[in-house]
Amino acid sequence: MRCEVVAVGTELLLGQIVDTNSSWIGEQLALAGIDSHFQTKVGDNRDRIASSLRQALERSDAVVVCGGLGPTQDDITRDVIAEVMGVELLHDEAIEARIRAMFGSRGRAMSANNLRQAQVPAGATTIPQMPGTAPGLVCPMPPGHAHEGKVIYAVPGVPAEMREMVAGTVVPDLQRRAGVTSVIASRTLRTWGQSESGLAEMLHDEIERLDREPGATIAFLASGIEGIKVRLTAKAATAAEAEEVIAAEEAVVRSIIGDIVFGVDDETMEHAVVSLLAEQGLTLAVAESVTGGLIGSRITNVPGASKVFRGGVVAYASDVKFSVLGVPEGPVVTEECARAMADGVRKVLGADVGLGVTGVAGPDAQEDLPPGTVFFGLAIGDRVESRPVRMPGDRERIRAFSTIGLLNWLRR
Ligand code: ATP
Ligand code: MG
Repeated sequence: MRCEVVAVGTELLLGQIVDTNSSWIGEQLALAGIDSHFQTKVGDNRDRIASSLRQALERSDAVVVCGGLGPTQDDITRDVIAEVMGVELLHDEAIEARIRAMFGSRGRAMSANNLRQAQVPAGATTIPQMPGTAPGLVCPMPPGHAHEGKVIYAVPGVPAEMREMVAGTVVPDLQRRAGVTSVIASRTLRTWGQSESGLAEMLHDEIERLDREPGATIAFLASGIEGIKVRLTAKAATAAEAEEVIAAEEAVVRSIIGDIVFGVDDETMEHAVVSLLAEQGLTLAVAESVTGGLIGSRITNVPGASKVFRGGVVAYASDVKFSVLGVPEGPVVTEECARAMADGVRKVLGADVGLGVTGVAGPDAQEDLPPGTVFFGLAIGDRVESRPVRMPGDRERIRAFSTIGLLNWLRR
């Protein structure tokens, strides 16, 4: 069973929105054990959408089209699918009733255009929708069609609606057609402090073993400034069995790289730090120079941060470091300064733990030090420590890496 994705929308071609739908669908297909060989983006143009669909049907058994199901003039996906199937569009009373009910309940007038959403190509079935939106379509090519037996699925472009239909209907239907009965489970371990190649080397023997013996698979995903993700995937007859394989593999992987794993799945560095502080009953204050408030911003992204976070001082100018935080006057891109910032801010804000960060984000040097020179400070109990670090990249990356790097240092 081979499936491909066609994303419809002129805004995708103009770079006005990023085609995250295709990536997400691609991931779901891979997890479900369905091969996908092509992804196409096409504008809101009848002939070009038709030719993309025909080409996709030539090479694949199933096509998932997303976008262009709405009520406006440029939403022509259902018309084009009917054309490609060589069938009429039929009016579906049940869908019309639902659309009318939705407009009635919201006290809004319905335009004639909205009724276009009640049209369904002959032979197609609909995928139930959330109230008030267009239904998705399952469109098998009719008997006698050159691609009889193949199928086009149409789902809306709005990501939340698309996801619900793809996960709830499209993927299970594809698996049934493909005779795939296995279940896939996956877990992502999030790491900080190693490159992708460094991780690959550390896990080399384990990856080789998994090549020889059936079990989980390991994949690396570089996620920009968020560190490297190590994804474990397992296929089994039941969800419970797949979970068991994943859990066993996680234990093996953690025994090798456990000290650089900071979170699982969606857990961010700031989540990990807030949980850790909460567990230990400690409060935190941060003194930020080079990061200009990014650390406080990330910490306060976490629901429940108020239990552990006292606050922060953005001490950007040198004299603010001296007067507000009590840093001794002198050079400020130094380990001494980072320590004094950490110690000063916990006193000023009455926290158990203080963090400080000072450095050069560039593009110009400061105190004769090149961009990327950063010093971390940490004050906790009698310990007041500092650490020099070298951050790669431009201003944005230096500031982002400093933020996560310092939180990671606190975690350890
Ligand atoms: P609607 O009923 O809202 O008109 P639709 O099926 O017609 O739904 P589109 O009009 O193509 O879908 O897209 C609606 C919105 O969904 C877009 O404005 C965009 O924000 C988002 N969207 C569409 N396609 C994609 C895509 N491939 N990736 C990410 N977001 C998308
Ligand atoms: Mg639309």
